[in-house]
This record gives sequence, C-alpha cells and structure tokens, in this order.
Amino acid sequence: MHHKALVLFSGGQDSATCLAWALDRYDHVETIGFDYGQRHRVELDCRQRVFEGLRNEFPHWAAKLGQDHMLDLGLLGQISDTALTDEKAISFAQGGLPNTFVPGRNLLFFTFAAAIAYRRGISVLVGGMCETDYSGYPDCRDDTLKALQVTLGLGLDQRFVIETPLMWIDKARTWQLTEQLGGTGLVELLRLQSHSCYLGDHSTLHAWGYGCGSCPACELRAKGWAGYKSPSRA
Ligand code: ZN
Repeated sequence: MHHKALVLFSGGQDSATCLAWALDRYDHVETIGFDYGQRHRVELDCRQRVFEGLRNEFPHWAAKLGQDHMLDLGLLGQISDTALTDEKAISFAQGGLPNTFVPGRNLLFFTFAAAIAYRRGISVLVGGMCETDYSGYPDCRDDTLKALQVTLGLGLDQRFVIETPLMWIDKARTWQLTEQLGGTGLVELLRLQSHSCYLGDHSTLHAWGYGCGSCPACELRAKGWAGYKSPSRA
C-alpha cells in the first residue's frame, strides 16, 4: 500500500512541488483539493493548469497520475473570519499569525484526506507544510502532523504515513528540489502556473511568477526565488 499516495494539492507552489515529489517516488498518485470559498478562485484555476502541464510535458508522470478528489468545504466560511474568505485586508494579529489563518485547517484537510485514502487503498498522505519559513501556523508544525499521523492511524484503524518533504527546507531549496525533480521545465511550469499570492493576483508577472508583489506570500516567494537564483545572497 505504501506505493500509492494522496497529495494535498491546492495549486500553490509548495503543494505543486509535493505533487511532483510524489510522482517521482510512488507508482500511483491521487490528489485532493478543497474549495472553501476562497476569496479568489485563481488558485483552483492554477491547479488545473499545473495538471495540464504535468500531463503534457511529463508523460512518465502522467501515467501515474490518478483521480483528483475535489471537496467542497464551504462550511469553513461559517467558522472563519479571515482575509481568505471575506474582503478584509490582510493584517497580523498579536502572536504574529496573519488573519488569513483558518484555525486548524490542516487538521481538517488531512482528516478528510485520510477518509478518502482509506476508501482508495492509499496509506501515504503528502502535504507541503513547512516549519522553516512558515507564518507561524501551528497546524503546519512537524509535531502537530506527527501527532495527527498517530491519531488517524488509531481512529481509522489503519496505518497512515504523513509525508511533508518541505518541512525543513526554505523556499530557495524548494525551487532546487523542483529542479532536481523535473529540471528547468518543471521550474518554469511552477513559476508560471503555481499560485502563492494572498490577494489572488495572477496577472502581474515577476521574475518569480505572478502575484501582487507586496503581500507576505509574494514577499516570501520573491525572496525564495532570489535565493534560488543567487545562492550567495540567500
Ligand atoms: Zn501577493
């Protein structure tokens, strides 16, 4: 069962890199995405373009790419009050968490993923969470996800492995990993089609990809790209 993986794939840079990582490593890879009334649908559109690019340009991976499971989690809008789901500006609350934070989001995502994986005969769950340059999201922490792995295994009475290949690397090394996995073709696909910007800007093209250029997600992505392009400055 450990040859099949289910990847949490949002259309962002990190999860797109994880999808490539899983395609490189497992025989069969399925994906799961969540529609929870994001302020902008652009991430979900980017998701489709990344799929298209992978299918067209990486035939050895296309053969492994299985079903995509899209879940409507509109109910998250009822329990969150954040910049992702309404028109408030992004701000940073006390404690440094951006108000884009949906409390415990990754716990919910992995639990839904495990329920689907259980039915699909998949035991490996892959996510792009990262402690290295994260925004302080406690549900991205390695310890959180290790605890969740144990919880899911007990609660579903089936062993699950949660893989987080980006946990200990920064955004510059994420681009390096992308290049190792799929060469400059994959770097170019993810540069142009993966989405990070909190404001949903996918019209302004920068060296590092599309985005507003000034939100925290764009700043992080720009810094990572600069570090990837000139490692001495990182
Ligand atoms: Zn932005």
